[in-house]
Amino acid sequence: MISVAEALQLVLNEAEPRLPIRVSLNESLGRVLAEDVASDVDSPPHDKSLVDGYALQVAAWRRCGEPRSVELAVIEEVTAGQVPTCEVGSGTAIRVMTGTPIPPGADAVVMAEETVWVDDPAGPRGVVRLAPGLDVNAGQNIMRRATSLRRGQVVLDGGCPLGPAHVGLLAEVGRADVAVVPRPQVAVLPTGDELVDVGFVPGPGKIRNSNGPMLISCARQAGGVVRDLGVGRDDAQQLGALVQHGLAADVLIIAGGVSAGVRDLVPQVLTAAGVDQVFHKVRLKPGKPLWFGVYRGEVPAQGHSVPTLVFGLPGNPVSSFVCFHLFVAPAIARLAGHPPLVPPRIRATLRDPFPQAGDRATYHPAWLEDGERPEVQLIAWRGSADLRALADANALAIFPPESRAYRAGDQVECLPLLAPRDSVWPDQAVGRRL
Ligand code: AMP
Ligand code: MG
Repeated sequence: MISVAEALQLVLNEAEPRLPIRVSLNESLGRVLAEDVASDVDSPPHDKSLVDGYALQVAAWRRCGEPRSVELAVIEEVTAGQVPTCEVGSGTAIRVMTGTPIPPGADAVVMAEETVWVDDPAGPRGVVRLAPGLDVNAGQNIMRRATSLRRGQVVLDGGCPLGPAHVGLLAEVGRADVAVVPRPQVAVLPTGDELVDVGFVPGPGKIRNSNGPMLISCARQAGGVVRDLGVGRDDAQQLGALVQHGLAADVLIIAGGVSAGVRDLVPQVLTAAGVDQVFHKVRLKPGKPLWFGVYRGEVPAQGHSVPTLVFGLPGNPVSSFVCFHLFVAPAIARLAGHPPLVPPRIRATLRDPFPQAGDRATYHPAWLEDGERPEVQLIAWRGSADLRALADANALAIFPPESRAYRAGDQVECLPLLAPRDSVWPDQAVGRRL
């Protein structure tokens, strides 16, 4: 059996970013840029005023002598979107707004707050009086053309994940659409003859399919575009047909049917479908039966031959959840163009004893109190099916494979889980008015 680290490496070896697509700017959030983007404008596009105020010529103003409380005739008013038509000279000023071009002849702007407006019916617009003792220097409150960026300059490099500020910058430099790495398609297929849909009361021997909706949510939270394949039965023919649909996706997640039960048919069905097994079973608790393989065949519907990553997750929901976070989420991130990242681990002080035994790493549902001295509390957990305990967790406490009686006060590493608010694709939750 291989270790968690070895298994992750084998998964990531197969996860190449998908070929770029072009999307409109408003669809680009959260995706990874697949081209270098250069600006088609200078920013600012002209020497601009940084304040609402009065543009003047410092040398002419200085010639007014002491004390420097002067009145200047306001010869023009330039509002947003306009360009000045007059030139500033001796005894004159032009009223400008934040962002408007600096008029010819002017080399400083005095803030409106440092002036007094004097109505003068004789002046073209009026007269402005500068505050007594005010000092005005050349260049004051002016931002020169192209100070932020220059036309032709590359402002974003390919590989950059796009957040709201990047989207704004792309708009500024004239990119209505951009090349990005697409979000991976993730097909989800829970399996088992015992499963009934959430809308039904389970009869004898049956349980509800909790794993399916959970994995769909995991895949969405990880940035995948989900394809729900429904529930597979423990029947090779039916499973085989559903697997064919799933292989058109970038990632196929099957849950259940990968252990040693007589109706655990998933590995043989996948092999028969042409999926090459990369590994089966990991030194991990919960999650030992994890199966991983790659399908490199042509998908006729798509006309492409990019490999499909196929995960056979154990059927128990907590096992599936742990395997998803350790292996599937990093693979989805990689397919979406993100650099391979080591999930952040936080060292924390254990609040409870824990008897770790055996050759498998334990990933235990836990509550992590982050802060200057992080502490972690293990959540009472009744095994791989105990979703209730998992729902109380915000982290997994990691106990490496060894035999060791951990005591309260010992240090352990924890893997923080994404918080519900970290759902990055809220657009998919349409909802209904109550
Ligand atoms: P399996 O891996 O198919 O042997 O399933 C292991 C355990 O997980 C069994 O107790 C199943 O009933 C349970 N299980 C399998 N699939 C699901 C599911 N979709 N939702 C809830 N429990 C499941
Ligand atoms: Mg089963």
